[in-house]
Amino acid sequence: MAYEYDPQNIFAKILRGEIPNTTVMETEHCLAFRDIAPAAPEHILVIPKGAYVNFDHFGAEASDAELVDFSRTVAKIAREIGVAPAAGGSGYRLISNTGSHGVQDVPHLHIHLLGGRRLGRMIEA
Ligand code: 5GP
Repeated sequence: MAYEYDPQNIFAKILRGEIPNTTVMETEHCLAFRDIAPAAPEHILVIPKGAYVNFDHFGAEASDAELVDFSRTVAKIAREIGVAPAAGGSGYRLISNTGSHGVQDVPHLHIHLLGGRRLGRMIEA
């Protein structure tokens, strides 16, 4: 089954500069910005610039350069905002909601990077 990407989703509009964002980091293939409704003291969204709906789409069709840049960008942000244990931080959580069971609201791949407080159990019933 082919992946269908909606170019009118809110993150596509952010990438096109139609909606403002608080950018944390920009690379050749990624943009990272603060979530508009933070669920933790640190709540950053990392998205690829390419038109990918979710992680399985990205993993199947992205170039090696995009895949590497995405991973390295997430890791670099975790260190730079000081939540990575290697940077003296107390840790963080990565979440990528997908589809209806994953309760994904925005149909452009994004990783939530959450930290700055103890986050509690991973899944609520
Ligand atoms: P999802 O439920 O798709 O995993 O998460 C979407 C996230 O995008 C939510 O945490 C929501 O607060 C965030 N969000 C929605 N619209 C905007 C926006 O216009 N700007 C920013 N920075 N975040 C947004």
